[in-house]
Amino acid sequence: MAGFTQLFVPGPTNVPEVVRQAMNMPMEDMRAPDYPDFTRGLFTDLMKVFRNETGRVFIFPSSGTGAWESAITNTLSPGDRVLMSRFGQFSHLWVDMCERFGLDVDVVDVEWGTGCPVEIYAERLLQDKEHRIKAVFVTHNETATGVTSDVAGVRAALNAAKHPALLFADGVSSIGSIDFRQEDWGVDCAVSGSQKGFMLPPGLGFLSVSQKALAAAKTAGHKRCYFSFEDQIRANDTGYFPYTPAVQLLRGLRVALDLLHEEGLEAVFERHNRLATGVRKAVEAWGLKLCAKEAKWNSDTVSAVLVPEGIDSAEIVRRAHYGYQTSLGVGLNKVAGKVFRIGHLGWVNDVMMCGAISAAEMALRDCGVKVQPGSGVGAALEHYRLSAQPSL
Ligand code: PLP
Repeated sequence: MAGFTQLFVPGPTNVPEVVRQAMNMPMEDMRAPDYPDFTRGLFTDLMKVFRNETGRVFIFPSSGTGAWESAITNTLSPGDRVLMSRFGQFSHLWVDMCERFGLDVDVVDVEWGTGCPVEIYAERLLQDKEHRIKAVFVTHNETATGVTSDVAGVRAALNAAKHPALLFADGVSSIGSIDFRQEDWGVDCAVSGSQKGFMLPPGLGFLSVSQKALAAAKTAGHKRCYFSFEDQIRANDTGYFPYTPAVQLLRGLRVALDLLHEEGLEAVFERHNRLATGVRKAVEAWGLKLCAKEAKWNSDTVSAVLVPEGIDSAEIVRRAHYGYQTSLGVGLNKVAGKVFRIGHLGWVNDVMMCGAISAAEMALRDCGVKVQPGSGVGAALEHYRLSAQPSL
């Protein structure tokens, strides 16, 4: 097939050519005397993306799931009560992990297409006078449904109840793409991974922790080894990892962090909002709806588009793949067959998004959805044209 294959799944995302080139390197010695000169800068600059000013950040040769595991096993003990909510495949998997670790999980199940139920959290925290809840979890961006939750609202609920529980946030598909402020929001464990907003291949798990999380690690009862904070603290301090690091990915990370900082985080967030708005305008022009039930839940990194009754969304994804060399995201779990997803995060721009929208539009028509030809892409490109930065 000629031309590029278009990748619009919400992770792994497109890797910029400069990042790819930086990883095309001869192997290097991760115990070289000057290796810490390189690794220390990674920690410092990664902290800036999380907006963590007073804690630490750890880099694991794992995916985001490893960073989840590190957060849980280092700060909690078996049997600890945790407050969680489930509204999509990834919040579901996080609940599943906590249950498998023997935590006493209080799960609030809410409709998929909505997000973290801050009011219910607020009530539970107020009622918990004995402070049995040790940690509160929020999936900042539910990648399966395209829903962003209010982490600051959860912090406000904790503060209003004067509750000392730790706050965990899953930012795998949000950090580095949309506003996330670990310090301001008092997030104790913030998790992310390399393959989304960080514009890298999969293979690095990031865990950014507060001083409170580091203190909790001193008494937490879970066993841990590969994902131990203690070893990672040493890595922070010495610049040498406790085991063989993913040296190529780290070289790629250097360049990806430079790209994020050169563009500026605020500009990155603004770009994601512009791109997402174009996709939302296309969906509206098609006469379709998002899985996100209200505008307040809309994610600027991924849109899950509901297909009409009687249409299988997996067929649309299949058609885009085979007919138009374009990868869109399938529906997962409860929304399998009901939604397809367009990822609009990481290294993407207006014209790339118009390509994704064109492929989706053609595939929708091929699968019998009655959308007007050119309606979605027309709405998106007019939005992009009118909101583009004047450069001449
Ligand atoms: N959390 C969210 C919100 C995700 O989107 C994903 C993966 O897509 C994960 C967690 C799991 O991360 P990983 O696949 O990197 O282990």
